[in-house]
Amino acid sequence: MNHFEPRDGELRCEDVSLTALAEAVGTPLYVYSSATLERHYRVFREALEAFPRLGAPLIAYAVKANSNLSVLATLGRLGAGADTVSEGEIRRALAAGIPASRIVYSGVGKTAAELAFALETGVEQINIESEPELTLLASLARTRGVRPGVVIRVNPDVGAGGHAKISTGTRESKFGVSLAEAERLYALAEADPNLKALGVACHIGSQITDLAPLARAFGLMRDLVERLRAQGLTVERLDLGGGLGVPYFNQPDPPAPMAFAAMVDSVVGDMDIDLAFEPGRAIAANAGVLLARVIHVHARPDGRRFLVLDAAMNDLIRPAMYDAYHDIRPVNPRPGPLVTYDVVGPVCETGDTFTRDRDLPPLEAGDLVAFMSAGAYGAVMSSEYNTRPLIPEGLVKGADWAVVRPRPTYDEILAREPAAPWL
Ligand SMILES: *Cc1c(COP(=O)(O)O)cnc(C)c1O
Repeated sequence: MNHFEPRDGELRCEDVSLTALAEAVGTPLYVYSSATLERHYRVFREALEAFPRLGAPLIAYAVKANSNLSVLATLGRLGAGADTVSEGEIRRALAAGIPASRIVYSGVGKTAAELAFALETGVEQINIESEPELTLLASLARTRGVRPGVVIRVNPDVGAGGHAKISTGTRESKFGVSLAEAERLYALAEADPNLKALGVACHIGSQITDLAPLARAFGLMRDLVERLRAQGLTVERLDLGGGLGVPYFNQPDPPAPMAFAAMVDSVVGDMDIDLAFEPGRAIAANAGVLLARVIHVHARPDGRRFLVLDAAMNDLIRPAMYDAYHDIRPVNPRPGPLVTYDVVGPVCETGDTFTRDRDLPPLEAGDLVAFMSAGAYGAVMSSEYNTRPLIPEGLVKGADWAVVRPRPTYDEILAREPAAPWL
């Protein structure tokens, strides 16, 4: 459920008119709904809380899905932690008021400078993805006299995820270490006086719409913890990652949080272990839309109709990068039979095609459309390709709204590039 609903013939966000918002801020524009963000976080937490054996898990929202400071602050106030993958994301989480005690730091290529920053800020959990990284962290910790919490990220070799580019849990992917390697590294970590070995983690992919691969991966993680414990090692934390899918279109819905929690309870509920989760898309995707205006409709003599929008692949790259489907809705639908459009942006790439042969209500130049479910992996992946200003973001709460990332001016864009002194 989300809070983008039609009222009196107009698509609205909570109690705010998207037409008025587009007029005030200009298009293209991302719009996020506070009520939807809050609802998704609560539904996820309450589903886990419905199973008392799961305790009170750390829910570390995956910052990379949507890292706007106001989005992070909205979730942080509800008690969410943050799963981060760079120094920049750690800085964002801290700036948004999420304490270091709820920050997890993941990623395959953390630099020494980034790890040092994580040690200085005292993030709760560092997910280690390789032996060289473990060695580097231990030496940085030793020179600083600190003892970071370490979790070994395991690649359980279970494929899952809505597209090859977002499957992270197979042997061929760059993420994590094998189950066997994890046993060896965990023993090393526990033996190292500079490290506090906390546990193990996995994250097998994104946009997962079937519980079976997750259950398989979690079962393998359970076996791993049992093997480690049998060797006399202390394992107090099991981080089960993110990856839960969202409905992008009218298809069978992905597993509800309650079904996910029931599966988690059945696989690891009896383990006496602290759990952590890293949901990103499930929290943010349906809490945002990309608003765009029709520049014109270009009808070819062969009958093909191009709906040319002022939004492009640099603003929302998911269709070009992952062949992703986004529902497209007119903000003020006109009556009349559906029309078949190719929906494209102005960027000079054929890849700048959001979709082909999509049946939509009739649209005219100046009309507004909303790309639904654009709150995750949308604005965060935007760029200024073609020197199109970075897209602004607006946050709605009830009848209030605020611009939480303004569109840069052309002067600001040009001023970022000082001329070489010899020119
Ligand atoms: C991207 C990522 C997540 C979040 O994935 P979603 O599919 O958005 O839930 C969680 N953990 C790690 C390590 C990630 O890289």
